[in-house]
Amino acid sequence: MAGDTTYRYPGEHFVLFLTITVVMLVIALTATATLCASVLFVTLALLISFYTSRSAHRHLVENAQRVTPNSGPEIYPLIQTCKQRIRPGEVDVFVTPSRQLNAYTFGLSEPKAVVLYSSLFNVMDQDELSFILGHELGHIQLGHTWLNSLIGGMAGIPSPSSASALLMLAFLWWNRMCEYSADRAGLLACRKPEKAISALIKLVAGQRSLTREGMELAYRKIDAEDDTWMGSLSEALGSHPMIIRRIQHIREYAASNQYRQLFR
Ligand SMILES: [Zn+2]
Repeated sequence: MAGDTTYRYPGEHFVLFLTITVVMLVIALTATATLCASVLFVTLALLISFYTSRSAHRHLVENAQRVTPNSGPEIYPLIQTCKQRIRPGEVDVFVTPSRQLNAYTFGLSEPKAVVLYSSLFNVMDQDELSFILGHELGHIQLGHTWLNSLIGGMAGIPSPSSASALLMLAFLWWNRMCEYSADRAGLLACRKPEKAISALIKLVAGQRSLTREGMELAYRKIDAEDDTWMGSLSEALGSHPMIIRRIQHIREYAASNQYRQLFR
């Protein structure tokens, strides 16, 4: 007789029910275990970065010069002005001897630290220094420093390689957004778009950009980078946007109503 299923073995449905229940339980258990492991992993990553940052701070205090009215009378007022404009909370500014042109910030608890490499003072004028300092203070004010440890920890969670590549790309993408935000803070600190732009060019070109021709040549080089696929690729895999994009974003922000209203 078609359609008649009364011949089904008596225990079949019951065992099916049991099987589904077991599968659900296993899924719930593994999900909980993964969640717990992830929370543990992120907490561990945060703890590690907290202690790394603390020991970096200690190392820095021993090797770099903290800027005070006595140790850096020529830049102390500039630092105070930038702090008033950005209001990042407690921050110590250090100068470390180096031939590189760079600055960075770190610290998960106050006071946070901004480190300026000494070569910056040979290349940048006061307004350009304000942009660079304002950029770093912006990272601090916007919470990028501690978020970086948290999200970096999350992006580092062990997962299948395709998933971890995706996590890393997302993390780098967010990092590039942070750079645009920090550039805006730099502009708010120096208030001169052309100085924000020349500071970015000088960071790349260094001493060569000190003459007018050198500056123009450096700009043309930076501008050309945008048209190459290598430029786009290295941007997608990097934590910083292309300089030319940062310059474009500064110009756009400087022309926006939002920016102009701040100084009305
Ligand atoms: Zn930055």
